[in-house]
Amino acid sequence: WQKIDLQRKSKDEIYEMGQSFNQMIDRLSLNFQKQRDFVSDASHELRTPLSIIDSYARLLKRWGAKKPEVLEESIEAILTETERMKKMSNQLLTMAQSEENVKCIKKFFSLTKMCEQIVHSFSLSFEREITLHSADKEIWINADEDQLKQVLYILLDNAVKYSEKEIHISLEETDDHVQITVRNDGEGIPYEDQAHIFDRFYRVDKARSRRTGGTGLGLSIASQIMKQHGGNITVESKPKEETVFTIQLPKK
Ligand code: ADP
Repeated sequence: WQKIDLQRKSKDEIYEMGQSFNQMIDRLSLNFQKQRDFVSDASHELRTPLSIIDSYARLLKRWGAKKPEVLEESIEAILTETERMKKMSNQLLTMAQSEENVKCIKKFFSLTKMCEQIVHSFSLSFEREITLHSADKEIWINADEDQLKQVLYILLDNAVKYSEKEIHISLEETDDHVQITVRNDGEGIPYEDQAHIFDRFYRVDKARSRRTGGTGLGLSIASQIMKQHGGNITVESKPKEETVFTIQLPKK
Protein backbone atom coordinates (compact mmCIF):
# COMPACT_ATOMS: atom_id res chain seq x y z
CA TRP A 1 0.00 0.00 0.00
CA GLN A 2 1.21 3.46 -0.91
CA LYS A 3 0.57 6.56 1.22
CA ILE A 4 -1.20 9.18 -0.90
CA ASP A 5 -1.01 12.93 -0.19
CA LEU A 6 -4.56 14.01 -1.09
CA GLN A 7 -3.81 17.73 -0.66
CA ARG A 8 -1.46 17.63 -3.66
CA LYS A 9 -4.03 15.99 -5.93
CA SER A 10 -6.42 17.85 -8.25
CA LYS A 11 -10.20 17.35 -8.04
CA ASP A 12 -10.12 15.20 -11.19
CA GLU A 13 -7.38 12.99 -9.81
CA ILE A 14 -9.27 12.52 -6.54
CA TYR A 15 -12.45 11.71 -8.50
CA GLU A 16 -10.54 9.12 -10.59
CA MET A 17 -9.06 7.58 -7.44
CA GLY A 18 -12.56 7.34 -5.97
CA GLN A 19 -13.78 5.62 -9.14
CA SER A 20 -11.01 3.02 -9.15
CA PHE A 21 -11.52 2.45 -5.42
CA ASN A 22 -15.21 1.77 -6.09
CA GLN A 23 -14.32 -0.67 -8.88
CA MET A 24 -11.93 -2.46 -6.54
CA ILE A 25 -14.65 -2.81 -3.88
CA ASP A 26 -17.10 -4.11 -6.54
CA ARG A 27 -14.57 -6.74 -7.67
CA LEU A 28 -13.88 -7.77 -4.08
CA SER A 29 -17.57 -8.18 -3.23
CA LEU A 30 -18.11 -10.15 -6.43
CA ASN A 31 -15.27 -12.47 -5.41
CA PHE A 32 -16.66 -12.85 -1.89
CA GLN A 33 -20.08 -13.62 -3.37
CA LYS A 34 -18.53 -16.24 -5.70
CA GLN A 35 -16.75 -17.86 -2.74
CA ARG A 36 -19.93 -17.90 -0.66
CA ASP A 37 -21.82 -19.51 -3.57
CA PHE A 38 -19.04 -22.07 -4.01
CA VAL A 39 -19.10 -23.07 -0.33
CA SER A 40 -22.88 -23.20 -0.21
CA ASP A 41 -23.15 -25.27 -3.45
CA ALA A 42 -20.46 -27.64 -2.21
CA SER A 43 -22.02 -28.22 1.20
CA HIS A 44 -25.43 -28.67 -0.38
CA GLU A 45 -24.06 -31.33 -2.77
CA LEU A 46 -22.12 -33.11 -0.02
CA ARG A 47 -25.24 -33.30 2.14
CA THR A 48 -26.98 -35.73 -0.24
CA PRO A 49 -24.45 -38.59 -0.01
CA LEU A 50 -24.03 -37.87 3.72
CA SER A 51 -27.73 -38.28 4.45
CA ILE A 52 -27.83 -41.51 2.41
CA ILE A 53 -24.90 -42.86 4.46
CA ASP A 54 -26.63 -41.72 7.63
CA SER A 55 -29.90 -43.50 6.85
CA TYR A 56 -28.20 -46.74 5.77
CA ALA A 57 -26.02 -46.72 8.91
CA ARG A 58 -29.20 -46.43 11.02
CA LEU A 59 -30.82 -49.26 9.05
CA LEU A 60 -27.71 -51.35 9.63
CA LYS A 61 -27.74 -50.62 13.35
CA ARG A 62 -31.38 -51.64 13.67
CA TRP A 63 -31.61 -54.66 11.32
CA GLY A 64 -28.07 -55.52 10.22
CA ALA A 65 -27.56 -58.36 12.69
CA LYS A 66 -30.92 -59.99 11.91
CA LYS A 67 -31.32 -59.52 8.16
CA PRO A 68 -28.40 -60.41 5.88
CA GLU A 69 -30.07 -58.74 2.85
CA VAL A 70 -30.20 -55.42 4.75
CA LEU A 71 -26.56 -55.90 5.73
CA GLU A 72 -25.50 -56.38 2.13
CA GLU A 73 -27.58 -53.54 0.66
CA SER A 74 -26.51 -51.07 3.34
CA ILE A 75 -22.81 -51.81 3.03
CA GLU A 76 -23.03 -51.53 -0.76
CA ALA A 77 -24.82 -48.14 -0.53
CA ILE A 78 -22.43 -46.79 2.09
CA LEU A 79 -19.42 -47.77 -0.03
CA THR A 80 -20.91 -46.18 -3.18
CA GLU A 81 -21.72 -42.92 -1.43
CA THR A 82 -18.34 -42.78 0.32
CA GLU A 83 -16.68 -43.23 -3.06
CA ARG A 84 -18.79 -40.38 -4.49
CA MET A 85 -17.85 -38.09 -1.59
CA LYS A 86 -14.18 -38.92 -2.08
CA LYS A 87 -14.42 -38.11 -5.79
CA MET A 88 -16.34 -34.91 -5.11
CA SER A 89 -13.91 -33.63 -2.49
CA ASN A 90 -10.94 -34.32 -4.81
CA GLN A 91 -12.70 -32.49 -7.64
CA LEU A 92 -13.60 -29.58 -5.35
CA LEU A 93 -9.95 -29.31 -4.39
CA THR A 94 -8.94 -29.26 -8.06
CA MET A 95 -11.49 -26.51 -8.73
CA ALA A 96 -10.38 -24.41 -5.78
CA GLN A 97 -6.74 -24.75 -6.87
CA SER A 98 -7.41 -23.73 -10.45
CA GLU A 99 -9.55 -20.81 -9.28
CA GLU A 100 -6.54 -19.61 -7.32
CA ASN A 101 -4.75 -19.75 -10.68
CA VAL A 102 -2.27 -22.43 -9.74
CA LYS A 103 0.21 -22.20 -12.60
CA CYS A 104 0.04 -24.59 -15.54
CA ILE A 105 3.33 -26.43 -15.75
CA LYS A 106 3.86 -26.34 -19.49
CA LYS A 107 6.20 -28.51 -21.50
CA PHE A 108 6.41 -29.78 -25.08
CA PHE A 109 4.94 -33.22 -25.55
CA SER A 110 3.37 -35.33 -28.26
CA LEU A 111 -0.40 -34.91 -28.08
CA THR A 112 -0.75 -37.81 -30.53
CA LYS A 113 1.13 -40.16 -28.17
CA MET A 114 -0.84 -38.96 -25.17
CA CYS A 115 -4.15 -39.60 -26.95
CA GLU A 116 -2.99 -43.05 -28.11
CA GLN A 117 -2.16 -44.02 -24.51
CA ILE A 118 -5.46 -42.72 -23.14
CA VAL A 119 -7.47 -44.47 -25.86
CA HIS A 120 -5.59 -47.71 -25.15
CA SER A 121 -6.19 -47.59 -21.40
CA PHE A 122 -9.85 -46.56 -21.70
CA SER A 123 -10.60 -49.24 -24.29
CA LEU A 124 -9.10 -51.87 -21.98
CA SER A 125 -10.68 -50.69 -18.74
CA PHE A 126 -14.17 -50.14 -20.11
CA GLU A 127 -14.15 -52.72 -22.90
CA ARG A 128 -15.42 -50.10 -25.33
CA GLU A 129 -14.59 -49.37 -28.92
CA ILE A 130 -12.76 -46.04 -29.03
CA THR A 131 -11.29 -44.93 -32.36
CA LEU A 132 -8.57 -42.31 -32.72
CA HIS A 133 -8.51 -40.34 -35.99
CA SER A 134 -5.30 -38.47 -36.53
CA ALA A 135 -3.08 -37.40 -39.43
CA ASP A 136 0.16 -39.39 -39.90
CA LYS A 137 2.21 -36.44 -38.71
CA GLU A 138 2.59 -36.39 -34.93
CA ILE A 139 1.07 -33.32 -33.24
CA TRP A 140 3.18 -31.61 -30.56
CA ILE A 141 1.98 -29.06 -28.06
CA ASN A 142 3.29 -26.86 -25.24
CA ALA A 143 0.83 -27.37 -22.39
CA ASP A 144 0.36 -28.86 -18.93
CA GLU A 145 0.27 -32.57 -19.77
CA ASP A 146 -1.45 -33.71 -16.55
CA GLN A 147 -4.16 -31.09 -16.85
CA LEU A 148 -4.81 -31.88 -20.50
CA LYS A 149 -4.98 -35.58 -19.67
CA GLN A 150 -7.55 -34.76 -17.01
CA VAL A 151 -9.73 -32.94 -19.57
CA LEU A 152 -9.62 -35.94 -21.91
CA TYR A 153 -10.36 -38.34 -19.05
CA ILE A 154 -13.43 -36.26 -18.13
CA LEU A 155 -14.73 -36.24 -21.73
CA LEU A 156 -14.10 -39.96 -22.28
CA ASP A 157 -15.50 -40.87 -18.89
CA ASN A 158 -18.71 -39.01 -19.83
CA ALA A 159 -18.83 -40.59 -23.30
CA VAL A 160 -18.58 -44.03 -21.66
CA LYS A 161 -21.15 -43.17 -18.96
CA TYR A 162 -23.76 -41.53 -21.13
CA SER A 163 -23.68 -43.75 -24.24
CA GLU A 164 -23.29 -47.41 -25.07
CA LYS A 165 -22.17 -46.73 -28.63
CA GLU A 166 -18.83 -46.24 -30.35
CA ILE A 167 -16.64 -43.30 -29.34
CA HIS A 168 -14.44 -41.29 -31.73
CA ILE A 169 -11.58 -38.93 -30.95
CA SER A 170 -10.16 -36.70 -33.70
CA LEU A 171 -6.96 -34.68 -33.63
CA GLU A 172 -6.33 -31.77 -35.98
CA GLU A 173 -3.88 -28.90 -36.12
CA THR A 174 -3.56 -25.51 -37.77
CA ASP A 175 -0.43 -23.32 -37.72
CA ASP A 176 -0.97 -22.15 -34.17
CA HIS A 177 -3.84 -24.20 -32.71
CA VAL A 178 -4.82 -27.80 -32.09
CA GLN A 179 -8.32 -29.15 -31.98
CA ILE A 180 -9.49 -32.32 -30.28
CA THR A 181 -13.03 -33.60 -30.68
CA VAL A 182 -14.65 -36.37 -28.68
CA ARG A 183 -17.81 -37.72 -30.29
CA ASN A 184 -20.28 -40.35 -29.16
CA ASP A 185 -23.62 -41.44 -30.52
CA GLY A 186 -26.46 -41.87 -28.07
CA GLU A 187 -29.07 -39.95 -26.07
CA GLY A 188 -27.42 -36.57 -26.58
CA ILE A 189 -28.08 -33.45 -24.51
CA PRO A 190 -31.35 -31.47 -24.79
CA TYR A 191 -30.82 -28.06 -26.47
CA GLU A 192 -32.02 -26.12 -23.40
CA ASP A 193 -29.37 -27.80 -21.19
CA GLN A 194 -26.40 -27.36 -23.50
CA ALA A 195 -25.60 -23.83 -22.30
CA HIS A 196 -25.50 -24.97 -18.65
CA ILE A 197 -23.55 -28.22 -18.62
CA PHE A 198 -20.26 -26.38 -17.95
CA ASP A 199 -21.71 -24.87 -14.74
CA ARG A 200 -20.60 -26.60 -11.58
CA PHE A 201 -22.93 -29.29 -10.24
CA TYR A 202 -25.18 -29.03 -13.33
CA ARG A 203 -26.56 -32.42 -14.36
CA VAL A 204 -29.12 -32.94 -17.09
CA ASP A 205 -30.56 -36.03 -15.48
CA LYS A 206 -29.69 -36.03 -11.78
CA ALA A 207 -30.79 -39.61 -11.24
CA ARG A 208 -28.76 -40.93 -14.19
CA SER A 209 -25.70 -38.97 -13.18
CA ARG A 210 -25.97 -40.37 -9.62
CA ARG A 211 -26.39 -43.93 -10.90
CA THR A 212 -23.21 -43.60 -12.96
CA GLY A 213 -21.22 -42.04 -10.11
CA GLY A 214 -21.38 -38.48 -11.50
CA THR A 215 -20.79 -35.36 -9.43
CA GLY A 216 -21.71 -32.62 -11.92
CA LEU A 217 -18.19 -31.18 -11.59
CA GLY A 218 -16.31 -32.80 -14.48
CA LEU A 219 -17.15 -30.37 -17.27
CA SER A 220 -16.69 -27.27 -15.12
CA ILE A 221 -13.18 -28.50 -14.23
CA ALA A 222 -12.50 -29.17 -17.93
CA SER A 223 -13.67 -25.68 -18.82
CA GLN A 224 -11.50 -24.06 -16.10
CA ILE A 225 -8.43 -25.95 -17.31
CA MET A 226 -9.06 -24.87 -20.90
CA LYS A 227 -9.44 -21.22 -19.85
CA GLN A 228 -6.13 -21.41 -18.02
CA HIS A 229 -4.50 -22.62 -21.22
CA GLY A 230 -6.01 -19.77 -23.24
CA GLY A 231 -8.23 -22.29 -25.03
CA ASN A 232 -11.88 -23.22 -24.97
CA ILE A 233 -14.26 -26.15 -24.86
CA THR A 234 -17.64 -26.28 -26.60
CA VAL A 235 -20.41 -28.80 -27.09
CA GLU A 236 -22.71 -29.59 -30.00
CA SER A 237 -25.32 -32.22 -29.44
CA LYS A 238 -28.30 -33.48 -31.40
CA PRO A 239 -30.74 -35.05 -28.92
CA LYS A 240 -31.27 -38.79 -29.58
CA GLU A 241 -28.37 -38.73 -32.07
CA GLU A 242 -24.90 -37.64 -30.99
CA THR A 243 -22.77 -35.44 -28.76
CA VAL A 244 -19.54 -33.76 -29.83
CA PHE A 245 -17.20 -31.96 -27.44
CA THR A 246 -14.53 -29.78 -29.07
CA ILE A 247 -11.40 -28.51 -27.39
CA GLN A 248 -9.31 -25.82 -29.05
CA LEU A 249 -6.03 -24.65 -27.64
CA PRO A 250 -2.95 -22.72 -28.69
CA LYS A 251 0.08 -24.85 -29.55
CA LYS A 252 2.43 -22.68 -27.46
P1 ADP B 1 -21.30 -35.61 -14.23
O1 ADP B 1 -20.43 -35.92 -13.08
O2 ADP B 1 -22.75 -35.54 -13.86
O3 ADP B 1 -21.04 -36.46 -15.42
P2 ADP B 1 -20.26 -33.38 -15.84
O4 ADP B 1 -19.98 -31.96 -15.45
O5 ADP B 1 -19.11 -34.17 -16.36
O6 ADP B 1 -20.93 -34.06 -14.58
O7 ADP B 1 -21.41 -33.37 -16.96
C1 ADP B 1 -22.57 -32.57 -16.75
C2 ADP B 1 -23.78 -33.20 -17.42
O8 ADP B 1 -23.63 -33.13 -18.85
C3 ADP B 1 -23.94 -34.69 -17.13
O9 ADP B 1 -24.65 -34.89 -15.93
C4 ADP B 1 -24.72 -35.18 -18.35
O10 ADP B 1 -26.10 -34.94 -18.16
C5 ADP B 1 -24.24 -34.25 -19.47
N1 ADP B 1 -23.23 -34.92 -20.35
C6 ADP B 1 -21.90 -34.77 -20.30
N2 ADP B 1 -21.29 -35.48 -21.26
C7 ADP B 1 -22.27 -36.11 -21.97
C8 ADP B 1 -22.29 -37.00 -23.10
N3 ADP B 1 -21.15 -37.39 -23.72
N4 ADP B 1 -23.49 -37.44 -23.55
C9 ADP B 1 -24.63 -37.04 -22.94
N5 ADP B 1 -24.69 -36.21 -21.87
C10 ADP B 1 -23.53 -35.74 -21.37
